[in-house]
Amino acid sequence: MLTFKRSSALVLLALLAIWLIGLPVWVGVVVIFVYIGGLVWGSIRISSQFYMPAICSGKTEGRQIAISFDDGPLPEYTAAILDSLAVANVPACFFCIGKRVEQYPDLASRIVEQGHTIGNHSYSHHALFDLYSSARMKEELEQTNRLIYAATKSKPAYFRPPYGVTNPNLAKAVKKTGMTTIGWNIRSLDTVAKDEKKLLEKLWKELRPGAILLFHDTMAITAAILPEFLQGVRARGYEIVPIDQLINEDVYA
Ligand SMILES: [Zn+2]
Repeated sequence: MLTFKRSSALVLLALLAIWLIGLPVWVGVVVIFVYIGGLVWGSIRISSQFYMPAICSGKTEGRQIAISFDDGPLPEYTAAILDSLAVANVPACFFCIGKRVEQYPDLASRIVEQGHTIGNHSYSHHALFDLYSSARMKEELEQTNRLIYAATKSKPAYFRPPYGVTNPNLAKAVKKTGMTTIGWNIRSLDTVAKDEKKLLEKLWKELRPGAILLFHDTMAITAAILPEFLQGVRARGYEIVPIDQLINEDVYA
């Protein structure tokens, strides 16, 4: 697999070779540009596992999937989503933002009480999170785990990077916390979707065994389509299972 360390070593070797052979400077410039493109691609594509390991699907061939909700808990939508999941008797994983758990500890506690998994999605989910130092990222992760523990008595073992962006600082921080990074392989794009029907059609098209779906419990459209989505999954012969069952990794530390 192409990782940050391996590709950096390869580029250094290539530049050395170019210099030793005496190739024109522009060849080296092209190599550096391709390398920079690769760094950007690796940071925005969590499934590339370029900077750090991340589980983005289950290995099953069976028609089993897991669903996840990021960025909550928020009273406007998380409660309605929990209601729909309870009616359909379906488990989900909620990657919560620490500052929202701090604000709405009862909702975080309800997630766990209803049998769902709770994971860590940073404390601030700040737009500049990916520019933070590794120490600051680690502090955010630990602070969020403390808040989740205070609200639910569970210490999350799963982490999902804000915006799904990864980089060397985050890799170092997550490694120190010992948490498992969880990505997805079906992105609902519910944060930009405007049309419920189109959103559902996209999901039906992409549904496949072992999938981990990414939703947000901060969007009205997500809460609105969820009952129909849960019914439709069943009608298509799929079962939504707890994420730890799908990926075979412990949920709590
Ligand atoms: Zn997020």
